Order: sequence, then C-alpha cells, then structure tokens
Amino acid sequence: MQCDICNGSGCKPGTNKTTCVTCNGQGQVRQTRNMGFASFVTAAPCPTCRGQGSIIEIPCGECKGQGRKKGTKKVTFEIPPGIDSGDYTVQEEGNEVPDGVNGDLIVRVRVQPHSLFNRDGKDIFYDHDVSMIDAALGCEIVVPTLKGTEKIKVDSGSQPNTIVKLKGKGVSHINSRGTGDQYVRIVVTVPKKLNKHQKNLLDEFQKISD
Ligand SMILES: [Zn+2]
Ligand SMILES: [Zn+2]
Repeated sequence: MQCDICNGSGCKPGTNKTTCVTCNGQGQVRQTRNMGFASFVTAAPCPTCRGQGSIIEIPCGECKGQGRKKGTKKVTFEIPPGIDSGDYTVQEEGNEVPDGVNGDLIVRVRVQPHSLFNRDGKDIFYDHDVSMIDAALGCEIVVPTLKGTEKIKVDSGSQPNTIVKLKGKGVSHINSRGTGDQYVRIVVTVPKKLNKHQKNLLDEFQKISD
C-alpha cells in the first residue's frame, strides 16, 4: 500500500527530495574510457541515488523512506460478462511501486454451478420436463434464459431428449466475439402413478392403437 503519511514520496511531510549532485538528477553516470584510438562511453546507474536521480533528505518516519507500507485494502472491480473460472488480473491493484507502475492483483475466480443452467463455454444447457401426453399432443412451454423467459412450441409427437436451440441466448464471451446459444432438452416424463380411470383410458388407447 502507498504510505498515507508521505503519500508515497518517502519524504518526511514538509520536506522534499533533493536533486542528486553526483549525477545531476540524471540517475546514471557516464564513464569514458580511452583504449588506444577508441574511447568507450558507458552509462551505469548512479551509485549515490541508486538511479533515482534524487535523494530523500529526511525520510518519512512511518515508512522509513520506502513510500509504501504493508497492509490490506478493499478493491472493487467489475466482473466482466462471460468470465470463466481461472485467474483474472486487476491491473495496478497489486503491490505499491513508488514512482513506478504498481503490480497487478491476480484474482482467482471460481464460477459456481447454477441450479437450472449448465454452461459449456459460451453455450447454456437447460432441461425442461414435458409430460408424455404434452409431448404426444404438442404444447407450448415457457423456459428461463439468462435474460428473461422464452416461449417454445413443442411439436406434437416430440421424442424424448429433443433439443431446441435458442440462438444467441447463451453467454457473451470475454475473449471472443459473438454470443453463445441456449440448448433446451425436452425431457419427457412418464406418470409414476395412474388412477383407475387414467389406466382404463390408456388401456383403451392401447387397444385402438394396435
Ligand atoms: Zn511514508
Ligand atoms: Zn545520482
């Protein structure tokens, strides 16, 4: 974290950094070496100011001139749509680097499973129960999507596990263009119990179907 006493300067409040006299504030020193006919100029970090170009006259008592201190802070950031489980970088919210660019905060994101939807990349999978009578006769169902609900017409004679595709009702992905689709699987259910009347009607149905 940035030191809040000196606001990251490392100087005791009320004092300033002074220009390094060794390097004239350049942060580096040049050395010229003559070797025969040629002369080489080399630049090295200034040993006096360690390449900073300035010197802290009186260090801040809180951070001992570091300009930063240990601590934690709360960081708010937006979860982008279509994020997957994995590492997510929040730029410049990591370690404080006085006079430089701060480190990044790496957030390990775990996307939790949903009670209704299964996700595979950009696509969403959803199961919807339809009774065998509705599947045989056809019906209209209303299914949830990520954004509201959608009406689907189930054709008469629909077979178990028929897949209906809802185009563009999936996830818009963070690293690629376009939006995924939602796939609705028609799960045909069979009544577990029949009363006498229902049983008779189905017996009758079977007789006329043979
Ligand atoms: Zn300080
Ligand atoms: Zn210097």
